[in-house]
Amino acid sequence: MSDSIGIFGGTFDPIHFGHLRPALDVLEQLDLERIHLIPSANPPHREQPQATAEQRLTMLHLAVKNSAQFVVDDRELHREGPSYTFDTLLSLREEFPESPLYLMLGTDAFAYIQTWHRWDELLDLAHLVVMERPDETAEIPTEIEGWYQQHLAIEGESNKLAGKIWPVKVTQLAISATDIRAKISQGLNPQFLLPDAVIQIIGMLGLYK
Ligand code: ATP
Repeated sequence: MSDSIGIFGGTFDPIHFGHLRPALDVLEQLDLERIHLIPSANPPHREQPQATAEQRLTMLHLAVKNSAQFVVDDRELHREGPSYTFDTLLSLREEFPESPLYLMLGTDAFAYIQTWHRWDELLDLAHLVVMERPDETAEIPTEIEGWYQQHLAIEGESNKLAGKIWPVKVTQLAISATDIRAKISQGLNPQFLLPDAVIQIIGMLGLYK
Protein backbone atom coordinates (compact mmCIF):
# COMPACT_ATOMS: atom_id res chain seq x y z
CA MET A 1 0.00 0.00 0.00
CA SER A 2 1.30 3.44 -0.95
CA ASP A 3 1.32 6.46 1.30
CA SER A 4 -1.84 8.40 2.08
CA ILE A 5 -2.39 11.69 0.29
CA GLY A 6 -4.51 14.61 1.50
CA ILE A 7 -6.18 16.83 -1.10
CA PHE A 8 -7.00 20.40 -0.21
CA GLY A 9 -8.55 22.57 -2.90
CA GLY A 10 -9.52 26.20 -2.79
CA THR A 11 -9.22 29.51 -4.51
CA PHE A 12 -6.36 30.47 -2.16
CA ASP A 13 -6.85 34.15 -3.01
CA PRO A 14 -4.61 34.39 -0.98
CA ILE A 15 -3.52 31.28 0.99
CA HIS A 16 -3.55 32.01 4.76
CA PHE A 17 -2.98 30.36 8.16
CA GLY A 18 -6.69 29.43 8.34
CA HIS A 19 -5.93 27.01 5.49
CA LEU A 20 -2.46 25.86 6.53
CA ARG A 21 -2.85 25.09 10.25
CA PRO A 22 -6.01 22.95 9.88
CA ALA A 23 -4.35 21.15 6.95
CA LEU A 24 -1.36 20.30 9.15
CA ASP A 25 -3.75 19.10 11.90
CA VAL A 26 -5.35 16.69 9.41
CA LEU A 27 -1.97 15.50 8.14
CA GLU A 28 -0.88 14.61 11.66
CA GLN A 29 -4.17 13.17 12.92
CA LEU A 30 -4.73 10.91 9.90
CA ASP A 31 -1.01 10.16 9.50
CA LEU A 32 -0.90 11.34 5.89
CA GLU A 33 2.34 11.35 3.95
CA ARG A 34 1.62 14.66 2.24
CA ILE A 35 -1.08 17.13 1.28
CA HIS A 36 -1.65 18.42 -2.23
CA LEU A 37 -2.77 22.05 -2.28
CA ILE A 38 -4.80 22.44 -5.46
CA PRO A 39 -5.73 25.97 -6.56
CA SER A 40 -8.98 26.14 -8.47
CA ALA A 41 -8.93 27.64 -11.96
CA ASN A 42 -12.56 28.51 -12.42
CA PRO A 43 -14.57 27.81 -9.25
CA PRO A 44 -18.11 26.72 -10.20
CA HIS A 45 -19.67 27.68 -6.83
CA ARG A 46 -18.43 31.22 -6.28
CA GLU A 47 -17.31 34.47 -7.85
CA GLN A 48 -14.00 34.56 -9.68
CA PRO A 49 -10.76 35.20 -7.73
CA GLN A 50 -9.04 38.61 -7.85
CA ALA A 51 -5.49 37.33 -8.28
CA THR A 52 -4.71 35.41 -11.47
CA ALA A 53 -4.17 31.65 -11.32
CA GLU A 54 -0.46 32.20 -11.80
CA GLN A 55 -0.29 34.70 -8.92
CA ARG A 56 -2.26 32.37 -6.61
CA LEU A 57 0.14 29.57 -7.56
CA THR A 58 3.16 31.74 -6.76
CA MET A 59 1.69 32.63 -3.35
CA LEU A 60 1.12 28.93 -2.60
CA HIS A 61 4.70 28.01 -3.52
CA LEU A 62 6.04 30.74 -1.23
CA ALA A 63 3.71 29.74 1.63
CA VAL A 64 4.96 26.13 1.78
CA LYS A 65 8.53 26.45 0.54
CA ASN A 66 9.88 25.20 3.89
CA SER A 67 7.23 22.51 4.46
CA ALA A 68 8.08 19.38 2.49
CA GLN A 69 4.81 17.68 3.43
CA PHE A 70 2.84 20.26 1.41
CA VAL A 71 2.87 19.90 -2.36
CA VAL A 72 1.53 22.59 -4.69
CA ASP A 73 -0.46 20.79 -7.37
CA ASP A 74 -1.55 22.84 -10.39
CA ARG A 75 -3.55 20.16 -12.23
CA GLU A 76 -6.80 22.16 -12.18
CA LEU A 77 -5.12 25.09 -13.90
CA HIS A 78 -4.37 22.95 -16.96
CA ARG A 79 -7.98 21.88 -17.52
CA GLU A 80 -10.50 23.64 -19.71
CA GLY A 81 -13.94 24.56 -18.34
CA PRO A 82 -15.17 24.51 -14.74
CA SER A 83 -12.93 22.72 -12.23
CA TYR A 84 -15.03 19.96 -10.77
CA THR A 85 -13.64 18.14 -7.75
CA PHE A 86 -14.87 14.88 -9.26
CA ASP A 87 -12.53 15.33 -12.28
CA THR A 88 -9.63 16.29 -10.00
CA LEU A 89 -10.10 13.14 -7.92
CA LEU A 90 -10.34 11.04 -11.08
CA SER A 91 -7.00 12.38 -12.28
CA LEU A 92 -5.37 11.84 -8.86
CA ARG A 93 -6.77 8.32 -8.68
CA GLU A 94 -5.27 7.55 -12.10
CA GLU A 95 -1.90 8.96 -11.07
CA PHE A 96 -1.87 7.28 -7.64
CA PRO A 97 -3.84 4.03 -8.04
CA GLU A 98 -2.47 2.48 -4.82
CA SER A 99 -2.69 5.48 -2.46
CA PRO A 100 -5.50 6.20 -0.03
CA LEU A 101 -6.78 9.66 -1.03
CA TYR A 102 -8.36 12.03 1.53
CA LEU A 103 -10.36 14.97 0.18
CA MET A 104 -10.38 17.68 2.86
CA LEU A 105 -13.38 19.97 3.32
CA GLY A 106 -14.38 22.59 5.84
CA THR A 107 -17.80 22.07 7.44
CA ASP A 108 -19.13 25.00 5.35
CA ALA A 109 -18.22 23.25 2.11
CA PHE A 110 -19.38 19.85 3.37
CA ALA A 111 -22.83 21.28 4.21
CA TYR A 112 -23.62 21.78 0.52
CA ILE A 113 -21.73 18.82 -0.95
CA GLN A 114 -25.00 17.56 -2.42
CA THR A 115 -24.88 20.40 -4.94
CA TRP A 116 -21.51 19.27 -6.30
CA HIS A 117 -21.07 17.61 -9.68
CA ARG A 118 -21.37 13.79 -9.20
CA TRP A 119 -21.16 14.25 -5.43
CA ASP A 120 -22.40 10.76 -4.61
CA GLU A 121 -19.52 9.23 -6.60
CA LEU A 122 -16.77 11.17 -4.79
CA LEU A 123 -16.46 8.39 -2.19
CA ASP A 124 -15.71 5.90 -4.97
CA LEU A 125 -12.52 7.83 -5.61
CA ALA A 126 -11.44 9.17 -2.20
CA HIS A 127 -12.21 9.44 1.50
CA LEU A 128 -13.80 12.67 2.71
CA VAL A 129 -12.31 14.54 5.67
CA VAL A 130 -14.67 16.97 7.41
CA MET A 131 -12.61 19.57 9.26
CA GLU A 132 -14.65 20.41 12.36
CA ARG A 133 -14.34 23.14 14.95
CA PRO A 134 -12.75 21.72 18.11
CA ASP A 135 -15.73 22.77 20.24
CA GLU A 136 -18.56 21.37 18.14
CA THR A 137 -19.56 18.58 15.78
CA ALA A 138 -20.45 19.53 12.21
CA GLU A 139 -24.13 20.02 11.49
CA ILE A 140 -25.05 17.53 8.81
CA PRO A 141 -27.96 18.56 6.56
CA THR A 142 -30.91 16.18 7.14
CA GLU A 143 -31.00 15.16 3.45
CA ILE A 144 -27.54 13.57 3.69
CA GLU A 145 -27.66 12.38 7.32
CA GLY A 146 -28.29 8.76 6.27
CA TRP A 147 -25.50 8.82 3.69
CA TYR A 148 -23.16 10.42 6.25
CA GLN A 149 -23.86 7.85 8.97
CA GLN A 150 -23.55 4.98 6.51
CA HIS A 151 -20.07 6.04 5.44
CA LEU A 152 -18.69 7.29 8.77
CA ALA A 153 -15.24 5.76 9.33
CA ILE A 154 -14.64 3.36 12.18
CA GLU A 155 -11.25 2.51 13.57
CA GLY A 156 -9.12 0.11 11.57
CA GLU A 157 -10.41 1.29 8.20
CA SER A 158 -7.58 3.70 7.56
CA ASN A 159 -5.89 1.42 5.04
CA LYS A 160 -8.76 1.60 2.56
CA LEU A 161 -8.18 3.57 -0.65
CA ALA A 162 -11.49 5.48 -0.50
CA GLY A 163 -15.10 5.37 0.66
CA LYS A 164 -15.21 6.68 4.25
CA ILE A 165 -16.00 9.98 5.95
CA TRP A 166 -13.51 11.16 8.58
CA PRO A 167 -14.50 14.00 10.91
CA VAL A 168 -11.33 15.62 12.25
CA LYS A 169 -11.12 18.35 14.89
CA VAL A 170 -8.86 21.15 13.69
CA THR A 171 -7.51 24.40 15.11
CA GLN A 172 -10.12 27.09 14.55
CA LEU A 173 -8.70 30.30 13.16
CA ALA A 174 -11.24 32.94 12.19
CA ILE A 175 -9.22 34.02 9.16
CA SER A 176 -10.70 34.46 5.69
CA ALA A 177 -9.21 35.52 2.39
CA THR A 178 -12.09 37.98 2.00
CA ASP A 179 -11.06 39.73 5.22
CA ILE A 180 -7.38 39.77 4.20
CA ARG A 181 -8.24 41.33 0.81
CA ALA A 182 -10.42 43.92 2.55
CA LYS A 183 -7.65 44.81 5.00
CA ILE A 184 -5.12 45.29 2.18
CA SER A 185 -7.53 47.38 0.12
CA GLN A 186 -8.04 49.61 3.18
CA GLY A 187 -4.30 49.97 3.70
CA LEU A 188 -4.34 47.88 6.92
CA ASN A 189 -1.56 45.46 7.85
CA PRO A 190 -2.46 41.74 7.25
CA GLN A 191 0.59 40.46 9.18
CA PHE A 192 0.11 37.33 11.38
CA LEU A 193 -2.88 36.19 9.28
CA LEU A 194 -0.75 34.69 6.51
CA PRO A 195 2.93 33.86 5.88
CA ASP A 196 5.29 36.85 5.61
CA ALA A 197 6.60 35.63 2.23
CA VAL A 198 3.04 35.78 0.87
CA ILE A 199 2.54 39.29 2.24
CA GLN A 200 5.77 40.34 0.54
CA ILE A 201 4.77 39.08 -2.89
CA ILE A 202 1.29 40.61 -2.54
CA GLY A 203 3.04 43.94 -1.96
CA MET A 204 5.42 43.44 -4.88
CA LEU A 205 2.61 42.56 -7.27
CA GLY A 206 0.32 45.28 -5.93
CA LEU A 207 -2.51 42.78 -5.35
CA TYR A 208 -5.88 43.51 -3.64
CA LYS A 209 -5.35 47.27 -3.54
P1 ATP B 1 -12.81 33.63 0.68
O1 ATP B 1 -12.83 34.46 1.93
O2 ATP B 1 -12.26 34.34 -0.53
O3 ATP B 1 -14.13 32.94 0.42
P2 ATP B 1 -11.45 31.46 2.08
O4 ATP B 1 -10.56 32.12 3.06
O5 ATP B 1 -12.73 30.85 2.59
O6 ATP B 1 -11.73 32.46 0.87
P3 ATP B 1 -10.95 29.34 0.14
O7 ATP B 1 -9.79 29.31 -0.76
O8 ATP B 1 -12.27 29.63 -0.44
O9 ATP B 1 -10.58 30.40 1.33
O10 ATP B 1 -11.02 28.05 1.03
C1 ATP B 1 -10.61 26.78 0.62
C2 ATP B 1 -10.98 25.79 1.69
O11 ATP B 1 -10.42 26.20 2.94
C3 ATP B 1 -12.50 25.64 1.95
O12 ATP B 1 -12.77 24.25 2.08
C4 ATP B 1 -12.72 26.36 3.25
O13 ATP B 1 -13.75 25.76 3.99
C5 ATP B 1 -11.39 26.20 3.96
N1 ATP B 1 -11.10 27.30 4.85
C6 ATP B 1 -10.96 28.61 4.54
N2 ATP B 1 -10.70 29.36 5.62
C7 ATP B 1 -10.66 28.51 6.67
C8 ATP B 1 -10.41 28.67 8.10
N3 ATP B 1 -10.17 29.86 8.64
N4 ATP B 1 -10.44 27.55 8.87
C9 ATP B 1 -10.70 26.34 8.33
N5 ATP B 1 -10.93 26.11 7.01
C10 ATP B 1 -10.91 27.18 6.19
